[in-house]
Amino acid sequence: MNKLTASLSSTLMIIAATTLISCSHSNVGNDEISQHYSMSDFPKVKKFDAHVHANNHGAAFIEQAQVDNFELLTINVDYPDFPPIDEQQDIALSLTQDYPQTIFFAATFSMRNWDDTSWAKDVQKRLDTALVNGAKAVKVWKNIGMSFRNNAQQLVMIDDPGLDPIFTHLSQLHVPLIGHQGEPHNCWLPIDQMSVNNDKEYFAAHPQYHMYLHPEMPSYEAQMAARNNMLDKHPQMRFIGAHLASLEWSVDAISEFLQRYPDATIDLAARMGQVQAQSVKDLNKVRAFFIEYQDRILYATDLTHSPGAAAQEFKNSAHQKWLEDWSYLNTDKEFSVPEVDGMVTGLRLPKSVIDKIYYHNARRAFSLN
Ligand SMILES: [Zn+2]
Repeated sequence: MNKLTASLSSTLMIIAATTLISCSHSNVGNDEISQHYSMSDFPKVKKFDAHVHANNHGAAFIEQAQVDNFELLTINVDYPDFPPIDEQQDIALSLTQDYPQTIFFAATFSMRNWDDTSWAKDVQKRLDTALVNGAKAVKVWKNIGMSFRNNAQQLVMIDDPGLDPIFTHLSQLHVPLIGHQGEPHNCWLPIDQMSVNNDKEYFAAHPQYHMYLHPEMPSYEAQMAARNNMLDKHPQMRFIGAHLASLEWSVDAISEFLQRYPDATIDLAARMGQVQAQSVKDLNKVRAFFIEYQDRILYATDLTHSPGAAAQEFKNSAHQKWLEDWSYLNTDKEFSVPEVDGMVTGLRLPKSVIDKIYYHNARRAFSLN
C-alpha cells in the first residue's frame, strides 16, 4: 500500500469511527471509541474524592470507595460538631496506615492559645509531626474569620500577620493549604433570594449563622478580600479553595479567582447544587467553565462518615451521591435534585476532562504521583 492509500484508508477509518460515535444505538465497540463515559463506566474509571471526612474508625467508607473505585482525602477540621482534632487525626492515621492505597489525609491545627507567644511554634511542630506521619495537605476552616476571637475579643481574619509563619512554612515545604473561608454568598442574602434550597433550609434553621441577620459581622466581600490578601502575601503557596473557594454563586467569579491565582485549584465539595443551579440557566456556560479549567478543578463531595453512623446506610448514601454526580458530569440525562427547582441536565464532559477532574488533578495536587 503506498503512502496515499494508507492515509486515505486511515481517513476512512476515522470517518467510520465518527459515524459510530454519532450513532445513538448502543453497539459493541462503541465504548472503546466514545468520547464520553456512560453510567456503566462508573465502577471502571479511577476516581478521587478530594474532600471527605472519615470520622469513624469503621471501614465502611473505605469499603464503598473500593467498590466504586475511589481514592479519598479525609480532611481534619476544627469544627465543633466533629470529634476533637486529635481524635480525627488518630482515625486518619489508622485508616491511612491500614489502607494506604485508598485513603490519604489532610491535617489541621487549633486556634486555642492563639494569644500565647509560643502559638505559631507549637502549631508548626504539630503540623511537622503530621507531615512526617503522611499528611498530604493542611486545612484552615471558616472559624478563622467567622468565629474565633483573640483575647481582645476581635475576630482573627485569615490574613492576620500571626498566621504568616505557618503559611510561610507550608509554602516552603510545598504543602498545599486547603482553605475554607467565609460561607456561600447566600449566607449574606435574605432567605427568599438564596439560589439553592439546601441553603434556604439551613439558614432558616440556623439564624445564628445567617450573616444577613448579623450586619456587625464581616461582609462576604471582606472575607474574600482577606483570603486574597493572604494569597497575595504568599505567592508560592499551593492553595486549594474548598467549596469552589466560596465563589460558588458564579462561574465567572471562580474564573476570575483562578486567573488571578494561577497556582490555585478549587474543590467542588458540597457545592454541586450551586453549579447545577447555574447550568439550569446556562448549560453551555457551565460546561465551558469545566473545560477551560479542567486542570484546576478537583472532584469532591464533603461526604462525612460520623462516629456511630450505621455502616450500610452510610455506604448507600455515599454510593448514591457519587452516582448522581457521575451522571451529571458525564451524561446528558435529565434529573431532579433537592437543591434546585426544575430539571437539571447533565454536562456530558469529555472523558479527557473527566479523567483530570476526577483523578489526575487530585493526584498532582497532593503530590501522589
Ligand atoms: Zn468539609
